[in-house]
Amino acid sequence: ALIILDSCINCDMCDPECPNMAISMGEEVYEIDPNLCTECVGHYDNPTCVSVCPIDCIEVDPEHKETQEQLMEKFVLIQEAK
Ligand code: SF4
Ligand code: SF4
Repeated sequence: ALIILDSCINCDMCDPECPNMAISMGEEVYEIDPNLCTECVGHYDNPTCVSVCPIDCIEVDPEHKETQEQLMEKFVLIQEAK
């Protein structure tokens, strides 16, 4: 999963672009739900939130590092739950 850093300026660009609806407003800045973020695996070649973020404040979450296989498994689980 990816994580939004505290330097986020709450520009609201990333939230509507997330295919998994993993991004929402947190207490101070936007947040990514690690249970829903597949790093866009299953949807796009690259994380779309990173592509649209004007200040590059989205990185791999060091506490939620996952392999491509794990991310694909999460994608399948999310689709099944829909
Ligand atoms: Fe959503 Fe993709 Fe960003 Fe994860 S990487 S928060 S799935 S847009
Ligand atoms: Fe924050 Fe970047 Fe998302 Fe804008 S696009 S709300 S700066 S994380």
